[in-house]
Amino acid sequence: MVNGYRPASLQEALEIKNNMNTVVPYAGGTDLMVENRKGVSYLFLNGLEELKQIKEEEDYISIGAGVTFTQALGSDLIHPLMKEAVSRIAAPAIRNTGTFGGNIGNGSAKADSVLIFYVCGAKLRLASVQGERLVDINDFYIGRKKLDLRPEELITEILIPKKGLDNYYYKKVGGRNALAISRVAFAGLISIEEGRIKNMAAAFGAVSDTVLRFQDLEGMIIGKTLEEAKAVKERLLAAYEDRMVLTRGRVSAEYRKTVCMNLFKDFLEEKGI
Ligand SMILES: Cc1cc2nc3c(=O)[nH]c(=O)nc-3n(C[C@H](O)[C@H](O)[C@H](O)COP(=O)(O)OP(=O)(O)OC[C@H]3O[C@@H](n4cnc5c(N)ncnc54)[C@H](O)[C@@H]3O)c2cc1C
Repeated sequence: MVNGYRPASLQEALEIKNNMNTVVPYAGGTDLMVENRKGVSYLFLNGLEELKQIKEEEDYISIGAGVTFTQALGSDLIHPLMKEAVSRIAAPAIRNTGTFGGNIGNGSAKADSVLIFYVCGAKLRLASVQGERLVDINDFYIGRKKLDLRPEELITEILIPKKGLDNYYYKKVGGRNALAISRVAFAGLISIEEGRIKNMAAAFGAVSDTVLRFQDLEGMIIGKTLEEAKAVKERLLAAYEDRMVLTRGRVSAEYRKTVCMNLFKDFLEEKGI
């Protein structure tokens, strides 16, 4: 038998989490079911309408932590880049129940929506009975399965910037074309204004303890024209090669690094660098 609490509102959920830090938030259960932890008490979030909203704000699209992948695929507010990544997650049955909050809360560097949140520079809203705080996704992941999430907190919302996402590149490399967990995943964004690179972002998923994004290295070409960026390309590639310390998974670290560098180069070339 599964033990747990079924709050009727987010406020009630936060109160339960505050009084019993050990309860485990349960959204779609697609990761938790596989873990099959014994003797735990769950906090069922799947009935909370407050967590299921997708809203347009001035600068951001807000995705509730309880929004499922299927719901996102049917929404006009979700950017095609996120839809492309989400459409590659598992099969419809998992997409129907799996949520963004669960994808983040599971703490895996293979989580397909998390890669997109990284490259976009998304922020997470974390709530407790004491109040809320906004955390940059880059700062939220501290290490393997280590999150900047206090015992009394829940993830309630993800904020994705509305601007700067249109010129994107995305590749998921799995063991097969469909129903595959990422072996390597890459997402890149570039925006060019008045002939200069206004922003460039590159994120690598499934290759280390957390998704990798090196904002200081991105800075090597931000502000440059494409010609100027080409002139520093070899230095840029060498810096990425140097920085990427990858872990072994089902495939070797060397394989992963080669694939990462090939995808990064392909992204730069496709975008004119
Ligand atoms: C067959 C199969 C295939 C899969 N394929 C993919 C794939 O291709 N790509 C991919 O990215 N994932 C994949 N997954 C993993 C999983 O489906 C996703 O990670 C999904 O997003 C988890 O969401 P959920 O709502 O089911 O999370 P749950 O299982 O309910 O929870 C996952 C974790 O997040 C925590 N959590 C949930 N909600 C919150 C919250 N609001 N605040 C704080 N913590 C929270 C839970 O406590 C738990 O630790 C697959 C899983 C299965 C079983």
